[in-house]
Amino acid sequence: MSDALRQRIFQELDSLVLIDPHTHINALNPASRTLADVLGYHYYTELAHSSGMPKDLIEEPDLDPKEKCARLIARLGPIQNTIQYSWFIEMARELLGFDGDRITLDNWEAVYDTAAEKMAHVDWAEQVLRASNLEAVFLTNEFDDPLEGFDTGVYIPCLRTDDLVFHLGKLSVRERLERMTDRSIDNAGALREAIGRIFEHFTARDARACAISLPPDFSPQPVSLGRAETAIDSVFSQGMDAAPSHRQALANFVFWTLAEFCAEHRLPFDLMIGVNRGVYADGVYQGQDLYDSRVSLIQYRQLFNAFPQVTFPVSVLASVTNQELVSYAWIFPNVATNGHWWYSNTPTFIEHDLAARLEAVPETKQIGYYSDMYKLEFGLPKFRMYKRILAKVLAERFVIDRGWPEERAIELGKRLLRTNVEEIFECGAGRAVKAFVPAAPLGADELVSADEPLESAESFDTDEPLDSGVLLDADDAVVLDTDEPMPDPRSAPAGHSMDDALVLDTDEPMLLAEEPLDAAEPLAMDELLDENERFDLEK
Ligand SMILES: [Zn+2]
Repeated sequence: MSDALRQRIFQELDSLVLIDPHTHINALNPASRTLADVLGYHYYTELAHSSGMPKDLIEEPDLDPKEKCARLIARLGPIQNTIQYSWFIEMARELLGFDGDRITLDNWEAVYDTAAEKMAHVDWAEQVLRASNLEAVFLTNEFDDPLEGFDTGVYIPCLRTDDLVFHLGKLSVRERLERMTDRSIDNAGALREAIGRIFEHFTARDARACAISLPPDFSPQPVSLGRAETAIDSVFSQGMDAAPSHRQALANFVFWTLAEFCAEHRLPFDLMIGVNRGVYADGVYQGQDLYDSRVSLIQYRQLFNAFPQVTFPVSVLASVTNQELVSYAWIFPNVATNGHWWYSNTPTFIEHDLAARLEAVPETKQIGYYSDMYKLEFGLPKFRMYKRILAKVLAERFVIDRGWPEERAIELGKRLLRTNVEEIFECGAGRAVKAFVPAAPLGADELVSADEPLESAESFDTDEPLDSGVLLDADDAVVLDTDEPMPDPRSAPAGHSMDDALVLDTDEPMLLAEEPLDAAEPLAMDELLDENERFDLEK
C-alpha cells in the first residue's frame, strides 16, 4: 500500500508549478552553457576531490570545458552512491534525453555534445524552467547589483547582506557601498542612510527578501549609535586588523539596522545560520566550509523578541540544529522553518527534519524547500528529491499512521511547496492579497535591553518557559510579557506608526548597549573573518 500511496502523492506534488525561494542563479546567465557548468557544481568537485582527485586537475586557469568534464567524469566512480550523483543522472535523463543510469568515460562524450547543442538554444533557460515546473526563482543579489536586464517576475531579487555585515572592514566593500548610494560613509548615521537607500533600490525592483549567512558565533545585539561610531572609526581605519570587539560591534550595528529596514519594508529576513568559512583551506572552490554544532538559536533570542513584525525564515546548516529550529518556530510567531540547507540537504536528514517539523510546527510557517542552485538545471532533480521524501513522510506519517485522507495529506504538501512561499514572501498569488500595513519597528524603549546578557545555563529552569523577569527588565521586555499574545508578525504592533519609529531616527542613539554581548563566544570573530578574503555569496 505504502509504495503506491507514495507514488500517487508524489505525482500530485510533482505536478505543481513552484517558486524556488532561494537560489544563486545569475539572472543574466541563468542556465548552463556546457556540461562543465553542471559538473563544476561544488558538490561534484568536492566529492571528487575528497575521493582522491587533485584539485589542480580542475582548477587550472583557462581549462577547456570539455577537458574539464573528461577529467571530472574519470573521477566520479567513487561518488556514484551519493545523492548528488543521482541529481546529475536525473538531470541528464530529464533535460538532455540521456537514457542510462551512469555517465562514464564510455558514454560521456555523447552527453556532452547533446548538452552543448541544447544549451545553445536562446530559450534554453525557459525550457529548463518549464520542464522543472518552476515559474520563478529567487536570486541572491549583492547589495550593489543594478538589478537590470531581467524579468523580476521570473527572477525575483533578494538582497544578500553578508558583505555589509561582515566585510565593511574591506575598503573595496565600502567603496562599492559609497558608489552605490552616492554618498561618503564615515559615520554611523551615514551608514544607516546608505543601507536605507539599498533597501529602497531593492524594493523598487521587486525584491521579496533580505538574506544573510551567519557564522556560528554570531549573536545579534542592538548597538548604540555612539558605540557604532567608535567601531566605525576603528574598523574603517584598521580594516580587518581592527580589534574583534570593534568588528563585532560594527557587524551587530549593521545587522540590527538591516532588521529595522526589513520591518520598514515588510521584507522577510532569511537567516542561514551556522557556517564556518574556510575550515578546509585546501578544499576546492566553494568546498571549504563546514558547519559547527556549537551554534544555538538562543543566540537569536533578542532579535526574535525585538522584531515581532519581521518574519525570519530560518535555515540551519545541519540537522543537529533542526530540533531547536522546530521549537523556535513552534513558540515564536515570527520564526519560520526554511528548507533543508546544504549539509542537511540529503534524504536522510530531510526526512528526519521534515517529519519533526510537520508534527510540531504550524503548517503555515514551513517553507518546504529551496534548491540553492547556481544553474537552473539543478532545480528539477533537487526538488524531485525533496518531493519524493515529502510524499514518503505524508504517506507514512499522516495517511497510514494518523489516518488522514490522501487528499488532505496532499493539501499539506502543497502548502509547504507553494502556498507558504507565496504567503511568507508575498510573491506569486501571495502578492495579490498583500494589503499594505506600514510596519513599525519597536521603539528603542521597547527593545530588549542589551545590558542584560544571557544568564548562565544553570539559571534556566528547563521545565518552565523563561520568565521575562529572569533575563530582562520587565519594563524593557514588552515582547516577552507572557500574559500577552505575541502580535501577528505580519502586522504592525498597535499604537505605533512610522512617526514614532525611533529606531529609524538617525539623530538619536537608538539602543542601550554600550558593548556587544557575547555570552557564548564559541569562536573568535577574527578566526572566522580572516580566513576569508574570498567571499562570494556561497550557498
Ligand atoms: Zn544559498
